[in-house]
Amino acid sequence: MRIDILTIFPGMFEPILNESIVKRAQAKGKVKILVHDLRDYTTDKHRKVDDRPFGGGSGMLMTPQPIFDAVRKIKSKIKSKRSKIILLCPQGKKLTQGIAKKLAKDKHLILICGHYEGVDERVRKNLADEEISIGDYVLTGGELPAMVLVDSLVRLIPGVLGDKFSLNFESFEGNLLEYPHYTRPADFRGMKVPCQETIRKSLSGENLRP
Ligand code: SAM
Repeated sequence: MRIDILTIFPGMFEPILNESIVKRAQAKGKVKILVHDLRDYTTDKHRKVDDRPFGGGSGMLMTPQPIFDAVRKIKSKIKSKRSKIILLCPQGKKLTQGIAKKLAKDKHLILICGHYEGVDERVRKNLADEEISIGDYVLTGGELPAMVLVDSLVRLIPGVLGDKFSLNFESFEGNLLEYPHYTRPADFRGMKVPCQETIRKSLSGENLRP
C-alpha cells in the first residue's frame, strides 16, 4: 500500500510516521507513506496556496491549482490505476472502524489536508473520490485527521500487527467493545484482579461489552 499526503505543514507528520506501529509498518515494507508540501506544487512565485473567497466572507481558502497539480504528478509517477483521493473535511463521512477496514484494502490513497477556511469547492466536486471527517468538531487543519486515518488503517494491513488474535477481539469487531484487561501485580494497593473464571471468559470473548 502507498499513501501520499498533501499538506502545507509537512513537519507535523514527523512524529506519527517515525514512531510505533506506523514506523514498523513502513520498515516492514507493508506501507509507503510520502508527505508532500503543497507549496512545492504552486505556480505562484511566492509559493502562495490560499486566496480570498469570492463573494466575501472571513478567512482564506486553499486554491485548487497546487492540489490538482500535486495529485496529477503523484498519479503519473505510480503504476497503480486505482488511486483513491480522500479529502479530510468536517462535512465528510464520519470515520469508523468499518471505513478504516475498507480503506486498508486499497493499493493507493492520496489524502488532502485542508487549512484556513477550507479548500476551494472544485477540489471536493471534481477531484476527491471520498470525503472523511474524524468527528463533529472543527480542527485547524486536515493534518491531525489525516494522521488519525493513517493510524487507524495501517494497523489493519495484514501482517502489520504481529498477533492476528488481537485484531479479532479488538473494539468494534462485531459491534462490541473489548473486554477489560489486567496485568501484574494481582493485588495493586488492595485492588484485586478478578478470579480466573472472569479472565477465562474474557479471553474466550464471552465478556465482550455491548
Ligand atoms: N470552515 C470550515 C467549516 O466550517 O467546515 C472549517 C475549515 S477547518 C478550520 C480547516 C481544515 O481542517 C478543513 O478544510 C479540513 O481539511 C480540516 N478539518 C477540520 N475539522 C475536521 C474534521 N472534523 N474532520 C476532518 N477534517 C477536518
